[in-house]
Amino acid sequence: MSSRVIIVHYDEIAIKGKNRPKFEGQLVDNIREKIKIAKLKGEVQKKYGRLDIVIPELDQKEDWIRLLQTTFGIANFSFAVLVEQDLEVIKNQCLEEISKQEFETFRITTQRSNKNFPIGSMEVSKEVGAYVFENLKKKVDLFNPDTTCFISIVDNFALIYSEKIQGPGGLPVGINGKAVVLLSGGIDSPVAAWYAMKRGLRISFVHFHSAPYTSQSSIDKVEELAEILRTYSPNAKLTSIAFGDIQKKLKLQIPEKYLIIFYRRYMLRLAEKQARESGAKVLITGEALGQVASQTLENMIVVEQAIEMMILRPLIGFDKKEIIVKAKEIGTFETSILPHDDCCTLFMPKSPETRAKLADILEIEAKIDLE
Ligand code: ATP
Ligand code: MG
Repeated sequence: MSSRVIIVHYDEIAIKGKNRPKFEGQLVDNIREKIKIAKLKGEVQKKYGRLDIVIPELDQKEDWIRLLQTTFGIANFSFAVLVEQDLEVIKNQCLEEISKQEFETFRITTQRSNKNFPIGSMEVSKEVGAYVFENLKKKVDLFNPDTTCFISIVDNFALIYSEKIQGPGGLPVGINGKAVVLLSGGIDSPVAAWYAMKRGLRISFVHFHSAPYTSQSSIDKVEELAEILRTYSPNAKLTSIAFGDIQKKLKLQIPEKYLIIFYRRYMLRLAEKQARESGAKVLITGEALGQVASQTLENMIVVEQAIEMMILRPLIGFDKKEIIVKAKEIGTFETSILPHDDCCTLFMPKSPETRAKLADILEIEAKIDLE
């Protein structure tokens, strides 16, 4: 008898006391949702301090790795073989697992939560270690081994695995509520969305486009970015809002140097409305401090005072270089750099105001005729 189990570990430091059942419940739900979408076969079971996913066979290992590496809340996971609680069987299985790897030194680590198993965990490790040594002539190194074979004696079987694959960490999507991400076609906002999801926010997107003044391909590109980000948070909805007419009307009524500030104030108002309608508690943008004219502290303060809802800016302290590295890692970079028409550069002034004052903005805004 032997079957396969994926052992999923989460970072226990991240969850304190009574939050734990909520954390585990959300993580289980999220994994099940993704299994369904990926059409994989696996049964998720909650165990003490870990999750087990019982899978029928191992022919879709790559798909499982992709699924789990894009599920926030997972610290690491291992493909384990489940065998009888019999020392001979355990020895042979460890030898088989460890033989798949290239190494010079190894250790065996045993954990025994079934105290009815007659042999202590130190003893199991010693016996199995000696057996591996006899067969492979590789050395034991308890402190800095090239590889470790883990034996977990639980319930009435033993789990054996030798590789821990890193997960993305963070908190399960949804555990901290909902957020609306302002998604442009650029490099930054998809990365901001990723960080928001990483801290447990379930996101949806709003995008402002200026069709027919800008092309359809720009809208398609944003849909493509949303689709990539759905790997991390399935079903995240994208709402595309036509913004061109508002821009046109604003352009006729306000000094050119303030245009971007007004565009942004109206964008935020529409995003806030969208957020309230969808039950989201917060807005997310890809702004960093001082990156472009619209991102001076003065302008950001004036812009955000158009709304009451809190705005989170996960990239505030990032350098552009760091954002690009992350964008490549999460798979949005190649799409972000495709050419597109940015609705904010449409009707864009040559020298925008960088130190807007709220009083000036409010005075102009009071005279604007716009529904
Ligand atoms: P990005 O790389 O995300 O486009 P950026 O460096 O171009 O950002 P800005 O143009 O100042 O910076 O935009 C700041 C943020 O405002 C964006 O990260 C995004 O969250 C939001 N934003 C800008 N334009 C749009 C848009 N057309 N639709 C939705 N959100 C937008
Ligand atoms: Mg942009």
